[in-house]
Amino acid sequence: MPLRADLHGIEPYGAPQLDVPVLLNVNENPYPPPAAVIEDITTAVAAAAGGMNRYPDRDFEDLRGDLAAYLARESGAHDLTVANIWAANGSNEVMLHLLQAFGGPGRTVLSFAPTYSMYPEYARDTLTDWVAGHRAEDFTVSAASALAQIERVRPAVVLLASPNNPTGTALPLEVIEEIAHGTATTGPGGSASVIVVDEAYAEFRRSGTPSAVSIQHRFAHLAVARTMSKAFAFAGARLGYLTAAPAVIDALRVVRLPYHLSAITQAVARAALRHTDALQAQVQALRTERDATVTWLRDHGFTVADTDANFVLFGLFDDRHAIWQGLLDRGVLIRETGPQGYLRVSIGTAEEMAAFRGALKEVTGA
Ligand code: PMP
Repeated sequence: MPLRADLHGIEPYGAPQLDVPVLLNVNENPYPPPAAVIEDITTAVAAAAGGMNRYPDRDFEDLRGDLAAYLARESGAHDLTVANIWAANGSNEVMLHLLQAFGGPGRTVLSFAPTYSMYPEYARDTLTDWVAGHRAEDFTVSAASALAQIERVRPAVVLLASPNNPTGTALPLEVIEEIAHGTATTGPGGSASVIVVDEAYAEFRRSGTPSAVSIQHRFAHLAVARTMSKAFAFAGARLGYLTAAPAVIDALRVVRLPYHLSAITQAVARAALRHTDALQAQVQALRTERDATVTWLRDHGFTVADTDANFVLFGLFDDRHAIWQGLLDRGVLIRETGPQGYLRVSIGTAEEMAAFRGALKEVTGA
């Protein structure tokens, strides 16, 4: 078969999907939607089903309007309109669209490792060169370091996860501002580099960390990606979105497949957005549980990265696979990812975190 040479022997990406009692491996929100939300979603799906003989609204303007209103409220950004919003089946697809439009052969995408493991896959799939830049020892990225790496690589696109996966590290707004200021001519042929701040976990950030949504309007080459998969507890619906200048959105409209967001997806997402408060009711509890988990792990002698997300990177283990397996043997699935010696645990319910702590104590003797 004439498979592309660079795809020979490549395994499909994905964490193990195992049937165990405590699932703390893919940074999901552990709380299912409340009954009232399920009811509204069901009604919305029934209404959409009645028009299923027709293709859906290709430009999904109603949904984009709802997302603009949510972002404006959540981040204190003003003047956000439909023209500033894009959406797709998860923020993975949103960022793939960005690379389809701004990457491609002869171009480079830069990020700062350790970071989200799908980034090199977007690059591969769009025939864009991938450069894994570096972070400081504590997983932070300073503006000076980022800009020096950008000057060297001259990327078409820079992917900046904040909070970063798998470390949980958020970028201060001043760093993003400085990077945006310094990248007006660092892209191909002296154009700008498109700076993408991936805020998949933004709603979990600690108090005092503002979102890049609040400064997006000041930079034509700055885009901020979000998702309903995490704080909205809506991973199964597949809805990610982005805010950027209208010229960026127009470019994404060129590369998307027509009708990429089904009528069901649009209806379900709009119904969910009517219940934002109910769906996000547990975010505060998850943040508290996250901070308590960090404290507990440090008190028990583990090394823990500061985190603004709904997961914690901890270690250090000589044989992290043995620890991961020991937890799994006790019904607790976490993620074997990140730098050598580290493991990542997603924040679950209080009961799930108690099960995690109990299993970890047994496995490590902590
Ligand atoms: N960005 C980051 C940093 C992530 O960790 C994830 C999910 N693990 C995503 C984006 C993509 O999430 P989704 O496609 O569900 O929106």
